[in-house]
Parts: sequence; C-alpha cells; structure tokens
Amino acid sequence: QDRLITATEKPEDHFDRAIRPTSLEDYVGQPVVREQMEIFIHAARSRQEALDHTLIFGPPGLGKTTLANIIAREMGGNLKSTSGPVLERAGDLAALLTNLEHGDVLFIDEIHRLSPVIEEILYPAMEDYQLDIMIGEGPAARSIKLDLPPFTLVAATTRAGLLTSPLRDRFGIVQRLEFYSVADLTHIVHRSASLMGIPMTPDGAQEIARRARGTPRIANRLLRRVRDYAEVKGNGEVTQDIAQRALDMLNVDKNGLDTLDRRYLQMLLERFNGGPAGIEALAAAMAEDSGTLEDVIEPYLIQQGFAMRTARGRIATNQAYYQFDMVPPERGNS
Ligand code: ADP
Repeated sequence: QDRLITATEKPEDHFDRAIRPTSLEDYVGQPVVREQMEIFIHAARSRQEALDHTLIFGPPGLGKTTLANIIAREMGGNLKSTSGPVLERAGDLAALLTNLEHGDVLFIDEIHRLSPVIEEILYPAMEDYQLDIMIGEGPAARSIKLDLPPFTLVAATTRAGLLTSPLRDRFGIVQRLEFYSVADLTHIVHRSASLMGIPMTPDGAQEIARRARGTPRIANRLLRRVRDYAEVKGNGEVTQDIAQRALDMLNVDKNGLDTLDRRYLQMLLERFNGGPAGIEALAAAMAEDSGTLEDVIEPYLIQQGFAMRTARGRIATNQAYYQFDMVPPERGNS
C-alpha cells in the first residue's frame, strides 16, 4: 500500500542525503541522546579507544541511521552498513568483520531480525574482538579464530522488546529516540528548506511540522510534496495557507494522522466497539501485517493519546472518539 507518510524508506529519499545531518551539532532535538553521545564519544576519542557498542531504538524515521553515521564520523572511523535480514550466512558477517579497521563502526539495522547463528558469532566479536567460525564441512571442517580490530557495533531496532537478552546485555550504550516536538520539527523543516533552496514562511514550516507525526523523515517528505504544490498552485513560496491546502489534499489531517491511522482508529472504534481488541484481530480486519501496526502506526497513536496498549488488547481513548465526532461510552471512572 502506498502510504504518503510511511516512515520506511522510499526511493526519493536519496534527496535526503543532501539534508541528512552529519554532525551531532546538526542533529536537531533528542537532547538527552545528544548530550550523552557527546560525552561518550569525547571520552572514547581521548582514550583512543573504540566507542562502546551502541543500541539505538525507536520507531522508523526518527534518526537511527543518521545517528549511526554521525557516530562513525565523529569517531573518525568508516561506517559499514548491513541489516539483520540481509545477514543470512555466517560468511557474510565474517567478511564484514574482517574488513573492519581500528575504530570503524559496523551498523546493523533491524538487529531484531538477526538469525540465531549470526547472533552466536556476534557475541565473541563484540565481547573480545574475536571471530570464531567453522569453515568447511564434514571431516575437513575446522574452526578458526581471528583477532579483530577494536570496532563499535551500532545496532538499530524498532522494537527493543524483540532482542534476546544476551544480545541486549552486550551493548554498553543504549539510546532510545523519542518522537520530536513540533518546535524541533519546525527547525528541521527550516533547515531542509534552506538546504534545498525552498522559500518558506515561519508559519509554513510550522504547519508542516505539526502534521509530520513527530518524525523527521515524514517532515522532509511532506516538505517535498508541499513544495510541488507551492510551485504549481502558488508562486513557489511555502506559506501556511499553501501548506494547509497541500496537506489537506494529501489527506494528512491537523493531527498528522493519515488514511491508515484513521482506518486503524475507525476499525477499533466501530468494528471492535473501542476495544479491547487483540492486535492480530485488528490486523486481520484491516488486512495489514501486525508488525506494521506495532512498528509504524501504534507508537504515534499511543504517544498522542489516541489508543492504549493493555494486557487485554488495544483500547481507543476518549480522544479517539472525539477525533471522529463520536461520544465516548460511560466507563466507570476510567
Ligand atoms: P531511521 O534510521 O530511524 O529510520 P533515519 O536516520 O533514516 O531514520 O532518518 C530519516 C531522515 O530524517 C534522515 O535522512 C534525516 O534527513 C532526517 N533526520 C533524522 N533525524 C534527524 C535529526 N535529529 N535532525 C535533523 N534531521 C533528522
């Protein structure tokens, strides 16, 4: 399904490379993460050690890959990237690891999708910078041990809960990215617009920020669509009025909810009477994958107070009823 505000990467995101921050200084928002990383990186650098292995978690589009790139650059090392589902064979990981140089960063996206075999190889590599693998088969098979240079594993995941605890425990630094405030997103939209040479008023930037679901990737994507609209329907300048009309046309509402978000809430309200509804039942009713609901749709709706996750299932809050001009049911004192 083509979803305008999907937080996963689309081909047009190569534009993004031009506007992606390359230093911690340019990394907008996330003050806690930024301050901590500044200290850890500074300390590791002055000891001339590799930075501790770092786990970054948070919903898609919040800046995990960007942060991994920044860490490599600030540590003065190279970045090698891969992802959990791509690393199928032990040899793939061995090839990556043996190509690392002192201080390099190995970035593994979607680390929760790593196969158990690969995970086993990663443990000694993380702990002792040792590669320990079997080569060959049958009677000729033997195990070899190789020393690796000190390196930093930076791993990203949308769901920390899916990591095995031995893997989790091997990260010295764990950072959780939060949804961005409207002020931070306004700053990001401004920065991107000036890098891309798009004329824009302050309230134009804010209008886009307000509807970006707390997510920088979505803010940048909306900015590009609003720019198109401004060029065709206006004089090219992104004003609040232009931004509003463009985003209304794109079905992104005042709260940043798009068609899929609204479908989720409506399903929960109408088909499941406001819940509690099991995630699988909800996913089946929407003909969506439950993982997508959990990773992409729910985090924002929950953070914004439209839905709740409870032991018995998902529940629509009063705010969700108001969103659709419905009257919430009497629920005791809840
Ligand atoms: P993730 O890996 O979490 O899915 P990315 O790191 O790919 O997200 O970020 C998506 C885009 O959003 C980046 O290309 C970048 O342009 C923008 N972005 C992310 N975080 C920030 C930030 N803190 N400041 C400015 N722009 C950001």
